[in-house]
Amino acid sequence: MTQNTVHRPGIKGLICDEPALFDLGSPGRKAYSLPSSAIPDVDPETLLPPDEIRGPIDDLPELTELDVVRHFTRLSQWNFSIDGNFYPLGSCTMKYNPRLNEDMARLPGLSQHHPYVPESLSQGSLQLMFELQEYLMEISGMDAVSLQPAAGAHGEMTGMLVIKAWLESRGEKRHKVLMPDSAHGTNPASSALCGYDVVQIPSDAEGQIDMAKLKTLMDEDTAAIMLTNPNTLGMFEKNILEITEIVHAKGGLVYCDGANLNALMGMCKVGDTGVDVLHFNLHKTFSTPHGGGGPGAGPVGVKDFLAPFLPVPHIEREGERYLCNFDKPQSIGKVRTFYGNFGVLVRAYTYIRTLGPDGIREACESAVLNANYIKEKLKNEYHLPYPGPSLHECVFNDKEQLKHGVKTLDIAKMLIDHGFHPPTVYFPLIVKGALMVEPTESESKETLDQFIEAMQSIAKEAEQNPKSFHDAPYLSKVSRPDEARAARKPVLRWKSA
Ligand SMILES: *Cc1c(COP(=O)(O)O)cnc(C)c1O
Repeated sequence: MTQNTVHRPGIKGLICDEPALFDLGSPGRKAYSLPSSAIPDVDPETLLPPDEIRGPIDDLPELTELDVVRHFTRLSQWNFSIDGNFYPLGSCTMKYNPRLNEDMARLPGLSQHHPYVPESLSQGSLQLMFELQEYLMEISGMDAVSLQPAAGAHGEMTGMLVIKAWLESRGEKRHKVLMPDSAHGTNPASSALCGYDVVQIPSDAEGQIDMAKLKTLMDEDTAAIMLTNPNTLGMFEKNILEITEIVHAKGGLVYCDGANLNALMGMCKVGDTGVDVLHFNLHKTFSTPHGGGGPGAGPVGVKDFLAPFLPVPHIEREGERYLCNFDKPQSIGKVRTFYGNFGVLVRAYTYIRTLGPDGIREACESAVLNANYIKEKLKNEYHLPYPGPSLHECVFNDKEQLKHGVKTLDIAKMLIDHGFHPPTVYFPLIVKGALMVEPTESESKETLDQFIEAMQSIAKEAEQNPKSFHDAPYLSKVSRPDEARAARKPVLRWKSA
């Protein structure tokens, strides 16, 4: 095990132990103490029918309030979170969510606004949504935005349905969607859900879309290309203008997965590159926390000619009045109850308003700088399969460490002992043994240096003592669970009979 001499705030490993509530407690303990009541006890049997009365429960632990508070507080600290330490997941943009966003989302006028309240009494919430649409249009260069989709993948499906509806409105039926082999798994899934056959375009040696292959694959049966820019290697598709021209020339449209917008916002408008449809991941780029699966928001932006097909209701302004427009005869319909995940929209709105145009650009620049700092500092220890210029994230692999029998999973597990969440591993699929690091703009140089130092010391240990990796992590409560079994046959009961 690596001994770490650096003094580092926060946790080192996950050193916790906590018995189940059932093993705590002592008969007669209570979580409350109240004076005896002046109201006489009533036998419930005289008030309720027998089948409404619960029988006694055996084995319930008897605990004080403090026992319960400490138990759950300690359990909550077993979670690794962005509030506790560095979380360098690539592709997922785990940036810090400023507390102000939470305060705004909790304002009673917003958080308790019932979606059935009439339009005339909902002007503030509608204005917020309308302005958020405008900001996203400004940042992306798209002409219209729907805030409804609940996540990136949902935005992809919505965007593909819009493309399909547009093609059908022109009497066209196309069957294929092209996508690079570096695509996120949700891209083929969303296209397939919309009835399309997915055709893969290989990446070239530089990690870019292979242009020769694109030219031969793009045909009149292809509805769209679905690409990610910068792609999941963190690299800007430098042929983007030519790509969009090739696809448009054959009557297809260009869908851009906007999950990596953190690398472009304030610097480059995706709409100016010939993209027709773009989704935003508000929970990534615009800071809502999304560990553990939600909630998110995946608004979709489109060019003018696609706007009639966006979901209803669309939030619009008429003079001084904000309204929900349901009267869109060509719309693909509703994709989400009410107006989408409103609380996430409030957080994204707050984030954009507090940064302003200059702040948005600076966040982007810092995210790119931070990723490149890590890349330069670690490129001697860890192999870079695509060494070209990259933006907000960098993808290493385990080629050097494999020489000693240490693989990506071992490196990720050892990093837990150093107090860091492992980066994204084994994605993108085109990189064997990928280690994908995205620091985001939130992290200070000190934190990045601590991470770099931990990664360097792991690389050294891989050379000197590769066997030590087999049982890593050593400091966590659980070392190496059988991950397949944990997912398929989780043990959720305390007493499994
Ligand atoms: C996260 C991500 C998605 C999917 O977004 P969700 O909001 O998780 O549904 C799609 N593509 C890329 C590149 C991503 O990183």
